[in-house]
Amino acid sequence: MQASWIHEGGKLLETEVLVLPMWEGEKKSSWFDDPHVQFALKSGDFSGKRNQVLLVYPTEKGQGFCKRVLLLGLGPKEKAESDLLRNSFAIATKSLCAFGWAKATFLIPHKLPKEDDDCLAMIEGVFLANYSFDALKNESLREEKKRLLEKAVFVGSQARGKEMVQQTALIADSVYFARDLINGNADDVHVKTLSKLAKDLQKDSQAISVTILEGQKLEALHMGLLLAVGQGAVRGPALVLIEYRGDPRSQDVTAIIGKGVTYDTGGLNLKPTGSMETMKCDMSGSAATLATLHAVARLQLKRNVIGVLVIAENAIGPKSYKPGDVVKSYSGKTVEIGNTDAEGRLILADALSYVQEKYRPSRIIDLATLTGGIVIALGEEATGLFSNDDAFAQAISAAGERTGERVWRMPLYPEYKELLKSQIADIKNCGPRKASSATAAIFLQEFIHPDMPWVHLDIAGTAFLAEPKAHQTSNATGVGVRLLIEYLSQ
Ligand SMILES: [Zn+2]
Repeated sequence: MQASWIHEGGKLLETEVLVLPMWEGEKKSSWFDDPHVQFALKSGDFSGKRNQVLLVYPTEKGQGFCKRVLLLGLGPKEKAESDLLRNSFAIATKSLCAFGWAKATFLIPHKLPKEDDDCLAMIEGVFLANYSFDALKNESLREEKKRLLEKAVFVGSQARGKEMVQQTALIADSVYFARDLINGNADDVHVKTLSKLAKDLQKDSQAISVTILEGQKLEALHMGLLLAVGQGAVRGPALVLIEYRGDPRSQDVTAIIGKGVTYDTGGLNLKPTGSMETMKCDMSGSAATLATLHAVARLQLKRNVIGVLVIAENAIGPKSYKPGDVVKSYSGKTVEIGNTDAEGRLILADALSYVQEKYRPSRIIDLATLTGGIVIALGEEATGLFSNDDAFAQAISAAGERTGERVWRMPLYPEYKELLKSQIADIKNCGPRKASSATAAIFLQEFIHPDMPWVHLDIAGTAFLAEPKAHQTSNATGVGVRLLIEYLSQ
């Protein structure tokens, strides 16, 4: 989508539809003074209730630059929140797409409660909703493909408007990139695909260098857990290391590690029907990490970031790793495999150990569709956050509030470790059903140096929705990309 910003008072170009947002109870639009619009407002058919939309055809005079006006309700101004405004603009965008209009102008109201944050949220709502995943539909059924906006013009008085539109366009591209990968077939988006896409980042940015560890290299490094999880699949596992040096003079480095299980059958502890169908999404952490590095490089952020994709397919077959066996990790700790479906923490453990040793980062964030337990606890509304560092956790939470990619902090009580005791190994990879998200996090913490600031994000509930909603217009949300960009930009 082509997008531009016109500062209020500037010349407006002809558009198919003008989106005119109104607060609840506003009886008159001072901005678009057309009798038909004023009549619609006075009639009571449109009250400005949150997310209400009403299509109005302006008088011929009004039609000078727009054929149609879509009134959009923002709800009561005193209760406005950036998150709600983002959703309202997403809903307007979805209405425009349903009608099939390709060009729209969006008015950004002045005197917003949280001026820049609200303005940015409105712009984001349009971009995030203007996505559909149609790659797997037959070409001849093009009619069924969703029409998307091709051109959006934003009109407002905010001084940073133009910059916000440009930046959002760029970040939205990375979000779409992540969504496409997650929505794609597991047999199309596998270890080779992700490795190649990571390598391709080098072409776009001189600040990026990529190393891929696989096969004998992983064996030589004794990455026992990663190798075990991947051994049942046709394509072996890989550890993809994407180094971005945006601030070469600084020693500060943030490592981001994404779980990339390209398909999770559960292994020999096979998942039942009803639990497996969405498991192509089990690489959402890796997709978000890759997309974040994609955005970081294009935004030329003055930060050093190491993006790590830890990739394996948890397949079932004669070579699959086995429940009850004990596997030695890269760190040297031995792990009893209590359940082969608790594979994400295994591959992450090796990646965490390796990254700390090799890069000595200043802090680590991992993202993983790790546990069903977090979906039970938080649903699709928030990502579960576990951390050993209050200030770090707070900074990520603040980024979550600003982007609407909310996180909710969960506890890491040492008592949970009792649930992972093994009779024959140093630790077991899973405990009982209770506190399953916390025991998964505690397992990861066993591989984190006590002085290393660390945040673990369990995105099992937020990465892939049962049904698209609000600004999420496909199952895959791309969660994590905007959150991490926001965090890294601060
Ligand atoms: Zn699993």
